[in-house]
Amino acid sequence: MPVNAALNWDQIQREATDILSRYIRLDTSNPPGGESKAVEFLARLLAGDGIESRTYQSAPGRDNLVARLRSSDTQSPPLLLLHHMDVVAANPQLWSKPPFDGLIRDGHVWGRGAIDDKGLGAIHLMAMLLLKRAAVPLKRDLIFMAVADEEEGGSLGTRWMLDNQPAEVQCEYVWDEGGVGSVGITGNRPVFTISVQEKRSVVVRLKAYGRGGHGSVASGGPLDRLVRALHGIQGFAGDVRFNSVTRRFFEQLAETQTSLAGWIMRHPEAPVSGSILRRQLRKVHTLNAMLRDTVTVTVVQAGVNSNVAPDEAEAVLDVRLLPDTPLEDFLQRLNRAINDESIEVTATDSPPSPPPSSTDTAMFQAMRRAVLTQVPEALVASMQTPVATDSRFFRERGINAYGLIPVVLTPEELGSIHGVDERISVQGLVQGIKIALDVLLDMCT
Ligand SMILES: [Zn+2]
Repeated sequence: MPVNAALNWDQIQREATDILSRYIRLDTSNPPGGESKAVEFLARLLAGDGIESRTYQSAPGRDNLVARLRSSDTQSPPLLLLHHMDVVAANPQLWSKPPFDGLIRDGHVWGRGAIDDKGLGAIHLMAMLLLKRAAVPLKRDLIFMAVADEEEGGSLGTRWMLDNQPAEVQCEYVWDEGGVGSVGITGNRPVFTISVQEKRSVVVRLKAYGRGGHGSVASGGPLDRLVRALHGIQGFAGDVRFNSVTRRFFEQLAETQTSLAGWIMRHPEAPVSGSILRRQLRKVHTLNAMLRDTVTVTVVQAGVNSNVAPDEAEAVLDVRLLPDTPLEDFLQRLNRAINDESIEVTATDSPPSPPPSSTDTAMFQAMRRAVLTQVPEALVASMQTPVATDSRFFRERGINAYGLIPVVLTPEELGSIHGVDERISVQGLVQGIKIALDVLLDMCT
């Protein structure tokens, strides 16, 4: 691409690194979020290049931003770049660098959100600024959208925007988070996964009531029963189940494997594949989570005094269902594993399961081409992400949404997402901007 090739990438690297570093310094841990300061920051950067943006407040301190590069051609509907400004909490005691200083060290930008999702935001923003500076006529509108509240369900962010400002975010394609580039998980060839479908998140609460009593004599009370119930669901996971997206994902991934592993990936449901596949899945948690219903105990609450057995006890389970698992069936299986009718089991509503976004679109192909231009040895595969993203709100409305942070991450960098020492390499950041700019040039000019 001529525009792309003529750019001063050293300067872009400095600018992008600086933007991401400053973005990380705005602590938007959710709760409480406080994304308004991030909106002000992004709006200023956009205005610096003459791009107007609008702010939509869903609650005090919770702002969302939409900026648009307009096309004079109204034939093609817009392409929307989406990222979330909020981040999950970080415990500074566990980190080797302060999580909200945005330090640039050892070729990396460090801090909470460096990858998820301020990293993607910086990539989208930089690509949009470069497109604006190139002053080329656009054949469709390009929308940059920064939302609040993704990490806590999106009801004040993407969902709120789609419900309250549908015209502002109407588009043909969405580029969101969900997949990444990685290396070292299934061999040394870089693999870029583009998410086209996701699992559904359900919160399940287990409650035990009854009589506690003096700690010296009471036993078999609510907390004891809850502990037994939790013991019953240890290791609870649904069977491995494939659907059209995961079958296709394995078929594509087979290319990176030697003959036996490749055969198994192409025939994952063959009887001989079963036990080998299950053994492998135990080692690769992300693949395992992609193919089963999963349950993780995330909160347990009971008791105040060391010498009083509590009258009630509660546990919260983070449940992730495959797109085609009926919630009722899952709850029946869970109840069987708990095997105690006195435990009250309640679940949040079953989220809808929209069809996957098509891979047979100009946008998916543009993303694929752009990745292969920048990383020719890569494999690009569509996949089902085990995490929930804002893409689901667009898919529910029939809009194709694609999830990709377009950067090759090492297993350590990948593990730092929602973990300790989150960081993105400066080189990766630039790679992401090059891929994003290629996609925008392809789709919008
Ligand atoms: Zn995220």
